[in-house]
Parts: sequence; C-alpha cells; structure tokens
Amino acid sequence: MIEIAVIGGGAAGLIAAREAARMSAEVTVFEEHEGIGEPERCAGLLSLSGLEKLGFSANGSYLQNIVRGAMIKSVRGKWRILDAGRPIAAVVSRRLFDKEIAKQAEQAGAEIICGVRVENVKRNENSFQINTSGGSYRSRWIIDAEGAGAALLGRFLRAGSEPRRWIPIIQLLVENHGLDRRFVYIYLKNYLPDFFAYLIPIDESVGKLGIASRNPGLRKLLKKFLEEEFPGVRCLDSFSHVIYTGHPIDSTALFPMRFIPVGDAAGHVKATTGGGVIMGGLIAARIASAAAISLKKGSPDMLIAEAREMIRELERIAFLRRLIGRMNSPFLGILIALATSKLGGFYLSKSGDMDFQASSVLGFHR
Ligand SMILES: Cc1cc2nc3c(=O)[nH]c(=O)nc-3n(C[C@H](O)[C@H](O)[C@H](O)COP(=O)(O)OP(=O)(O)OC[C@H]3O[C@@H](n4cnc5c(N)ncnc54)[C@H](O)[C@@H]3O)c2cc1C
Repeated sequence: MIEIAVIGGGAAGLIAAREAARMSAEVTVFEEHEGIGEPERCAGLLSLSGLEKLGFSANGSYLQNIVRGAMIKSVRGKWRILDAGRPIAAVVSRRLFDKEIAKQAEQAGAEIICGVRVENVKRNENSFQINTSGGSYRSRWIIDAEGAGAALLGRFLRAGSEPRRWIPIIQLLVENHGLDRRFVYIYLKNYLPDFFAYLIPIDESVGKLGIASRNPGLRKLLKKFLEEEFPGVRCLDSFSHVIYTGHPIDSTALFPMRFIPVGDAAGHVKATTGGGVIMGGLIAARIASAAAISLKKGSPDMLIAEAREMIRELERIAFLRRLIGRMNSPFLGILIALATSKLGGFYLSKSGDMDFQASSVLGFHR
C-alpha cells in the first residue's frame, strides 16, 4: 500500500512528493511521459524569492538568465520600464528544473515511475484503487497534479478549474532578438485583448517568445506580431499549449476527501500572467506536508491554514485580473504609467513581489 500517490510528475507533483517524502511518508509519483520535464511547455520565468522559498538555488544547472525588470510596450507603442534595480527573477529550463526537483524527491525517498498513465481512480473504504497503464495500486492519499485538463479530477470529484479561463498559447524559441537580456518584454496589443505577447531572453540573441489569446486564428496573430516586432528573428522550436487565467480551487476544503488537486489541475496559477510554478509549488508543498502529518496522526492545521492563505492570494490576483480586463485601454494605460513611474517603481522595488502580486499592489505584503 502506497501512503501518498502523486498523479503527474510536473513541478507541483514533484515538489509535493519531495516534501511528503522528507516527512517520512511513502510516496510514489506516476508520470505518463517517459522522462521527467518532457515535453518542455513553459517559459520558466521564476522569481528569485519564490525559488528560495521552495529551497532551490538560483545557480542550478537549470539557470538560463537572471532579469531585473520588465519593459512593457503599450497598445499605442510607447515603452514603459519597470526596473526593480536588483535581480528579481531567474529564467530556467523547465526540463532541467523538473529533473532537479525529481532528483531531490528521490533523494528524500520518493519513488518516481515514468511512462505510466493513471487511467482511473476508485475509492474503497479507507484507501484508493489506482488503475494505471502499468497495473493497479492502492494508496491512502492521492495528490492530483495532472496539470491542465485534469480529466481524473473532473471524473472523480466532478470539480475543476473554470474551463473558459484556459487560453491557448504558442511559444517559440527564437534567435536574433537583439534585446537587452536584463529585462523581459511584454507587448500589449489590441488584437490580444485577453492576454499579451512576451519575449523572455536567454541571452542577447536567443529567447522564448510567446503569444496567447482566445481570439481565433492565433497562428495568424503570431505571424502579424512577428512582422511588427521581430521581423529578423529565426524560429528554432515551437509548441502550443494553454495557460490559466481564472480562479483557483480551494484544495484545502477537499483535504478531508484525501484526494487533493494541486498545481495547474487546481488552477493554482497567477491569473494575470499564467505563471504557476512558484505559487503552485508552495501550495503543493504545504498540502503534501499536511497529508504526511495526518498519516502520522499529527495536526496539519497550520500547514492547511498557510495553503489556504496562498490560495486566497491567487483569488485576489484573479479578481485583479478581472478588474483590469474590464478597464478601457486609456485607464489601463494610466495604471501602467503609474506603476512604471519613478514613485511607482520605487514602491514596487521596495515592497513588490512577483508572486504575491495582489498583496504587493495593496501594500500588505510582508
Ligand atoms: C507557454 C507557457 C509558458 C509558461 N510560462 C511560465 C513561467 O514563465 N513561469 C511560471 O511560473 N509558469 C509558467 N507557465 C505555467 C506553468 O508551466 C504551469 O503552471 C506549471 O507547469 C504547472 O505545474 P503542474 O505540475 O501543475 O503541471 P504540469 O507541469 O503540466 O505537469 C503535469 C504532469 O502530469 C502528467 N500527467 C497528466 N495526466 C496524467 C495521468 N493521468 N497519469 C500520469 N501522468 C499524468 C503530465 O504528463 C505532466 O507531466 C507557463 C505555461 C505555458 C503553457
């Protein structure tokens, strides 16, 4: 009997496995792909403070670049700069980052089984039966970290993230962008009303270029964007996926079910940017530790309260995003101008946190 089964070997599942194993729980991760970190479907922009909170060094083999701020191009074509004046985020290879988490999870005692898909889950009285493409298992707890789509979660709990808030995204690996590698670049466009385009440099030439929108014909919009902003780049690689911009599921309310969604499966993502590695990881760590403590008959209350507070922060960020979505573009322009003004920049560089965005804006982030 497995104590904690983790479905999905992405960032959230692996961090959950590492933390539960560190608390002496017997953990098995099931990952359908043959290798951890593959295929790579992320820009890998992670705050340095978030990496530290998750216990990762900013100098790991996964590091590709360090940035200190963002340049934002308004719909009218005017550049604004948000400069923290210090390094604030790392650009990582998600393939190598996930492999590092897997290594740490295994060192802590977790078992990771790749190339095995969980087909369905059934609840017995005090345990779960997990049917996989590689045989059946039984476990006491399940942490569902199956990512976008979350088919098992939908079937098992009839719960899920908001389906309409998943936005199609295309990301290219490009060379010859020629931009300053110390910043990330955000492009607001009238034809991308529900998201934006970005360029995240790896160096002065190679970078990750993304464009997301529910507007039909995303490939055509990408072509238009490339013609407008990057006529000289060469595409080295590309993929399509989805990014979440909605409200999170309160996984802590599902704790008594012993089947708990984390990460993208639970919509534990910043709705403003679609970034989910740090916040999803921090919540998954607490949920998994709480499950491990419960197995040893301890009290998980403090960890659950911490996870709930982080989910509330994601709620506030989703609320902020909806508010911004309702603004007309002149008002949004004023907001960006304020944030990127000397005073706004000073304020954000002192109290700003890329992950706790709502609390930073409202001024009560610790
Ligand atoms: C283009 C793009 C750019 C992004 N950029 C950033 C960024 O810069 N910063 C950031 O923080 N976030 C970013 N994100 C979001 C980030 O990638 C996700 O929030 C993060 O990967 C979520 O981790 P996860 O473990 O929940 O899910 P995933 O990483 O998707 O992992 C889920 C895993 O579960 C496996 N799985 C699914 N079903 C089963 C099953 N039935 N059985 C076994 N295995 C299963 C999948 O194969 C997968 O490996 C980006 C996303 C996209 C699409």
